[in-house]
Amino acid sequence: MDNKKVIVIPCSGIGKPIGTVSREVAYEIMRLKPDTAETVCLAALTSGDEESIKKIKDNYVITLDGCAKHCAQKNTQAYGKEPDKNYMILKFAAQNPDKKPEGIIDIGKGGRELVKTISEKIVSDIDEIKQNEKK
Ligand code: SF4
Repeated sequence: MDNKKVIVIPCSGIGKPIGTVSREVAYEIMRLKPDTAETVCLAALTSGDEESIKKIKDNYVITLDGCAKHCAQKNTQAYGKEPDKNYMILKFAAQNPDKKPEGIIDIGKGGRELVKTISEKIVSDIDEIKQNEKK
């Protein structure tokens, strides 16, 4: 049996509600999949932290980017690791106009609903990744 974890890396996204959503999604996934999902700090990874680099190379990686600049994806690729999945929060936001994050510090009810919607989708993709490794 493969004991690989799924490392969920949210972009930093400081200063944008969409960045807060990205981080909240990572926390929610770890709450929903405590035995499978972990994270690394994108800033540590970007600055060459060896423990973080080893972790992404030895495990599955999911990157969460707030916008099209794809900071989490690009900084993961910079270490030769292609994320198994990459998600852009802005796309989910566009698909769910009724679930709008309100602010940076408090994303409000709409933001929390958006976090829930995105997290549920990603958790089902994680289940699929883990199912495929058993085949
Ligand atoms: S992907 Fe977009 S929101 Fe996230 S850190 Fe980069 S610029 Fe900011």
